Amino acid sequence: VTAFDVIVIGAGPAGEVCAGALGQAGFGVALVERELIGGECSYWACMPSKALLRPADALAETRRVPGAREAVDGDVDARATLRRRDEVIHDRDDAGQLPWLADRGVSLVRGHGRLAGERRVAVDGDELDARRAVVLATGSSALLPPIPGLREARPWTNREATTASAVPARLAILGGGVVGVELAQAWASLGAEVAVIEAADRLVGREEPFAAEQVAASLRRRGVALHLGAKATRVSRDGEVAVELETGETVRGDELLVAIGRRPRTDDLGLETVGLEPGSSIDVDERLRSPGRPWLYAIGDVNGRTLLTHMGKHQARLVARSIGGEASALLPSAALPPRVVFCEPQIAAVGHTLQSAREAGLPVRAVDVETGSTAGASFHGRGEEGTCRLVVDEDRRTIVGATFTGPDVAELLHAATIAVVAAVPIDLLAHAVPSFPTRSEIWLGLLEQLDRR
Ligand SMILES: Cc1cc2nc3c(=O)[nH]c(=O)nc-3n(C[C@H](O)[C@H](O)[C@H](O)COP(=O)(O)OP(=O)(O)OC[C@H]3O[C@@H](n4cnc5c(N)ncnc54)[C@H](O)[C@@H]3O)c2cc1C
Repeated sequence: VTAFDVIVIGAGPAGEVCAGALGQAGFGVALVERELIGGECSYWACMPSKALLRPADALAETRRVPGAREAVDGDVDARATLRRRDEVIHDRDDAGQLPWLADRGVSLVRGHGRLAGERRVAVDGDELDARRAVVLATGSSALLPPIPGLREARPWTNREATTASAVPARLAILGGGVVGVELAQAWASLGAEVAVIEAADRLVGREEPFAAEQVAASLRRRGVALHLGAKATRVSRDGEVAVELETGETVRGDELLVAIGRRPRTDDLGLETVGLEPGSSIDVDERLRSPGRPWLYAIGDVNGRTLLTHMGKHQARLVARSIGGEASALLPSAALPPRVVFCEPQIAAVGHTLQSAREAGLPVRAVDVETGSTAGASFHGRGEEGTCRLVVDEDRRTIVGATFTGPDVAELLHAATIAVVAAVPIDLLAHAVPSFPTRSEIWLGLLEQLDRR
């Protein structure tokens, strides 16, 4: 048995950051990983999906700017895009990550980790003991719904859909959430004929309705067929894949991507040895600890709180501080974190939507301005579409939510995140002056709208 201060299982973004922070603080840390250091995010999720989306984005922006657009003829080059994607995911080789861990004194243990009782972890044949804590960071995998014929049809999950080496002629996608929408746009921009099947009557269900409508219109303009309010009842594969819908329609594709949600990787993690339920998300308190087990933490997708890389990394930093003896807990604002859908228009949001604020009983009103209404926007070209909305608590005079849509609005989001998390009073925000001519002057328009009523 080898002993460490802390054992972290899973080296995705959450586990890697936690192990690195603990190592830097001087703890003896073992990081257990059965696949690649960097996890789903680096090789099969965030990074490759953004690499597939970016060329069409850059081209669209160039086409909006007179003077630059004349230099462009032709379309996105699919082969070069796929090659760039491979470069971004380092051809699925994690060697580049090792020096970062070594610099922080983290001991990497390759293999499948399982809890073997309190503060003990078995990795294949070896037993490791944790003097202080075990941190579970095993992430999530694609959820396959129990639709007859689906498994036998060998569907794509996010893994195949982000690493495919050729563009399918026709791609059917089950699910119109963030993953479905981003990958629909990515593959359509590379030349695939794409159809999205979504059971709800709109895309990206939790975001503002105007954002969903703008993205739907943009996908339709790119030739993506949207089947909204459509339930898939049966799938079959005979060369091509056929998805039968409740309406009697059939959607066909050469490949079928399933993007309807995630399941935590807890099936084979030894949870039963500490009285927890295998297969479920690991329930944690605000300090990311398993209730009644002060030595056990769970961070990232596996605790089911917010399935986003930056939030998993945030949880990781809090846990490293807690283990170091500082009481560090999530703030309530972490429940509605900053989030971006990287399609065109992008959707960048933080905190409440108007509807979720009303459902939470907050006395709110919303103000909207067009994203293209600043002088700065003119340099981003003609015909920049999109809307910026603030949701304001009228009693407290603070912003409780913001949604921006439009090209590249992701980079505008952080100002709103600061305003929401720090509950900056509106009257003080008026003194936070954006530079001229930047798109951040959108804040002036929004505050002016607020004053007007
Ligand atoms: C297509 C797609 C696009 C996305 N885009 C974004 C985005 O743009 N921005 C964003 O913030 N989020 C995005 N996400 C979500 C993001 O990928 C996840 O939130 C993030 O990867 C979760 O990190 P994690 O460390 O919790 O888990 P993971 O990244 O899943 O890593 C967990 C690691 O644990 C390892 N592991 C599991 N079980 C064991 C075991 N028993 N023993 C040893 N090792 C084990 C796994 O091999 C894996 O390496 C996207 C997701 C998808 C599917």
